Amino acid sequence: MSEKPKLVVYWGASCGGCEIAILDLHGQFLDMTAAMDLVFCPCLLDTKKKDLEAFPDRSIAVTLFNGALRTEENVEMAQLLRRKSKILVAFGSCAQGGCIPALANFTSKDALLNTIFIDNPSVDNPLGIIPQVSTAVPEGHIPLSPLLESVKHLAQEVDVDYFVPGCPPEPHQIWRVIQTLLSGDLPPGGSTIGCGTLTVCDECDRKKEEKRLTAFRRNYEFYPEPGVCLLEQGLLCMGIATRSGCGAPCTKANMPCTGCYGAPDGVNDQGAAMVAALGSVMDLGDTSRLSEEALGQKVDDFLASIPDYAGQFYKYSLASSLLGR
Ligand code: SF4
Repeated sequence: MSEKPKLVVYWGASCGGCEIAILDLHGQFLDMTAAMDLVFCPCLLDTKKKDLEAFPDRSIAVTLFNGALRTEENVEMAQLLRRKSKILVAFGSCAQGGCIPALANFTSKDALLNTIFIDNPSVDNPLGIIPQVSTAVPEGHIPLSPLLESVKHLAQEVDVDYFVPGCPPEPHQIWRVIQTLLSGDLPPGGSTIGCGTLTVCDECDRKKEEKRLTAFRRNYEFYPEPGVCLLEQGLLCMGIATRSGCGAPCTKANMPCTGCYGAPDGVNDQGAAMVAALGSVMDLGDTSRLSEEALGQKVDDFLASIPDYAGQFYKYSLASSLLGR
């Protein structure tokens, strides 16, 4: 029997990007598996739930749980992994804040199923069949886990020891997290780790001056000037309301930050923080003689240049936002 600490990497409702980020450790992946035994990881190993159930409670040193909670099975696995693990980490934006799966919380479960399987121009489903929780086949019944009414993040169902942001987390941060968790010198419980405490703007090396915007532009409309703040050029860059630690790879590649590292320290609601920040950079010209109605129209015109408020401001954090859904 190996004496190495046991590592679990599990996914709930996720895209698999967090596992790819772990593989992107490259040579350090070998260091990781030298230091720990990867004992359960459906993406990489042929392991089953019964294998996990066979482990004594708290015998797994670290579980990196990525993905949101979309189904009853996701919740059941989160509870099982909580019981089996000494340290449970909400790994990546879906586990931390709901991320893309939680955008489903803008609608109802039934409306979602209808949009995907029935009322969809690319779907041919004349009998209006939607997935059933149990389907009879000659061999018996095939079960499918029911959807929850709302997508949740991990801490809404179980106690989480640490949060690692990112969609996905950056590999250099993943390695630091693993080394920290193995060191025994643990940060305070409930901390957000594998990241910085400032904002992406603080680690972005683009030149920042006074921001005054009359409208936003989309990426496809122009080629941004190198070295100049993208927000000042009219791209809706979330760096101002996003936690540092990624190294600003998106802005280095001329793409605005979309906010995947979540809210910085001291900010409860990333979307609200971004909206508040935009209020201070709107340039509506001389408004002193405008009627309230005309002023409202100017604000509306400005906001019309943002194509999707919800997806822009809450892409990664709707489940953990003040509204939640
Ligand atoms: Fe960099 Fe974006 Fe912040 Fe501008 S708004 S400094 S481009 S992260």
